[in-house]
Amino acid sequence: MRAAVLEAPGRLVVREIPEWPLEAYGDSDMVLVEVGACGLCGSDFRYFAGENPWAQHTLGRHVPNPPNIVLGHEFAGTVVKVLSERNAHLLGKRVAPVCSKVCGACVECRAGRAHLCPQTVHLGHGQGWGSQAFFPGAYAPSVPCWGASCYELSDRLPMTEAAMMDILAVCVHVARVGHVRIGGTTLSIGAGPAGNGCAQAALAMGAARAAVYERNATALEVARAQGLDTVDARGSGADALRQGFPNGFDTVFDTVGIPETLELGLSLLAKAGTLVNLAVHAGQTLNLDLMRLGSERRLTTSCNFETADYATALAWLESGQFQVREWLTPVALDDLPGIFEAVARDPEGKAAFKWVVRP
Ligand SMILES: [Zn+2]
Ligand SMILES: [Zn+2]
Repeated sequence: MRAAVLEAPGRLVVREIPEWPLEAYGDSDMVLVEVGACGLCGSDFRYFAGENPWAQHTLGRHVPNPPNIVLGHEFAGTVVKVLSERNAHLLGKRVAPVCSKVCGACVECRAGRAHLCPQTVHLGHGQGWGSQAFFPGAYAPSVPCWGASCYELSDRLPMTEAAMMDILAVCVHVARVGHVRIGGTTLSIGAGPAGNGCAQAALAMGAARAAVYERNATALEVARAQGLDTVDARGSGADALRQGFPNGFDTVFDTVGIPETLELGLSLLAKAGTLVNLAVHAGQTLNLDLMRLGSERRLTTSCNFETADYATALAWLESGQFQVREWLTPVALDDLPGIFEAVARDPEGKAAFKWVVRP
């Protein structure tokens, strides 16, 4: 089959690869899913650039990526093969599978923090698979997944929208970590899919206003079309935030995670507010006046999601509290190398809000 393979940093190639050796993974819970749609995630672009965002967020350090990763972890599809009788009910079902499996036995798993499990096996990158000729991901016609964490979709939810489940679950988790207040205010610094999704999650959790601060014209347009409070970061945007929200924000979601945005976020944080950094980069140093954290302000990060977040995200997507239709630009598998190279050349100039591939 043809898949988009990250052979090395900066080298994404659409090429022939063997079918996935489902029986050889040593896990009877495995099922094979025919991919209906797969989103291009911001972290996929970071893998392309040689980063390993999973390791940076979950382990707190850089781990080099192995060669030959089939990228793609935000996907939905149809179950076409199962190994165990206990997954027989899934055959032919449209599902949004969770893209990772935790070990269940480590300190984190046993403490109820399974989303921080260092032994996670993860689709769309090299984590947890041991040595493999090709690491499975969903930029391919099929992908191996785990039956126990396949969530069934209603017939009315299109595959392209269901493919957003992973990023939406991440946003639900971020909003929970950010202690969104009922009747409160939130700010997303950066209104790409993560910032946009966090704003929607905050509103679903009862925030009164969810502002987004962004300079990319496409992202601003999408946010406006969805009725979000938008502030153009070009020009005097930061002043507009201070004037429009004189009491500051109860929660700030920083999707950029560089010293400038963290400083801006902290300067806008209300008393007892929480700033969540969604993008942990190595080698960035914050020169922080500790008075910024006075009055019980919190600075924290968010990492992956918990099972309950995934269920919440699906409920909100099915009910329409999460709106993603305006996000999507469909592309073909063969378009991916060109898209990745263009984004690497000019990350700010991203031509689409969210690409979704139907391999
Ligand atoms: Zn992702
Ligand atoms: Zn574990």
